[in-house]
Amino acid sequence: MRLVLLGPPGVGKGTQAVKLSMHFGVPHISTGDMFREALAKKTPLGLLAKEYLDSGKLVPNDITIGLVRDRLENPDCAEGFILDGFPRDVAQAEALEKLLWSLGVSLDAAIYICAGSDVVVRRISGRRVCEACGATYHVSFNPPPEDGKCPKCGGRIYQRGDDTEETVRERLRVYKDLTEPVVDYYKGLGILKTVDGEKDADEVLDIIISMV
Ligand code: ADP
Ligand code: ADP
Ligand code: ZN
Repeated sequence: MRLVLLGPPGVGKGTQAVKLSMHFGVPHISTGDMFREALAKKTPLGLLAKEYLDSGKLVPNDITIGLVRDRLENPDCAEGFILDGFPRDVAQAEALEKLLWSLGVSLDAAIYICAGSDVVVRRISGRRVCEACGATYHVSFNPPPEDGKCPKCGGRIYQRGDDTEETVRERLRVYKDLTEPVVDYYKGLGILKTVDGEKDADEVLDIIISMV
């Protein structure tokens, strides 16, 4: 199964990607997670990405596309993948088509998860993440334990530095300007599926599975 998940920041792409990855037995590939991991390890990639993550702007395409190319060429992607947070503009979507063509495969669907901006803002502002395993929690909808330790791995649960009001505003602007056109791109290819992301997470999962 080869899927890309589209939708505004905070709509639940990562949450669904984890579930879909388990369901289909294919890797979850999140460019945001890859950048945050690189940053935590202070690798050259991480240090380069830092200013973009902090400001909510897109990391330049030559870097991001190269990163995704290397990842998709890994043998563990032979049977498929769930791409989350990529492509984020039309140039990335075109590069992905070219890359998949060169690998002799194609996407099964592009899943567009949508929700109103009030829902998205509420989800982002309550989001908490495990530093060690990346598991995602929400202060109201999926509360982390009071001791602040991840039930899955014991890691520290924290709030992402870019989940602040000012950066979220910029990320939503970038989404509208650059990422929303990607929805039309996949509509044009005839593989777009739209799902109401305001429902609860397991319901959204069932709908996605029934669509692909
Ligand atoms: P994205 O990857 O699109 O930025 P996340 O999957 O990280 O979004 O979700 C953002 C926040 O919303 C997280 O705190 C997550 O726990 C919560 N969340 C995700 N899906 C739902 C849902 N269907 N209902 C309520 N909260 C959700
Ligand atoms: P969210 O889904 O909450 O917006 P992500 O974890 O997907 O957050 O992305 C966090 C940040 O990582 C983005 O604001 C951007 O700086 C960078 N990033 C992630 N994916 C991409 C991408 N495909 N192209 C460019 N930058 C990206
Ligand atoms: Zn954890």
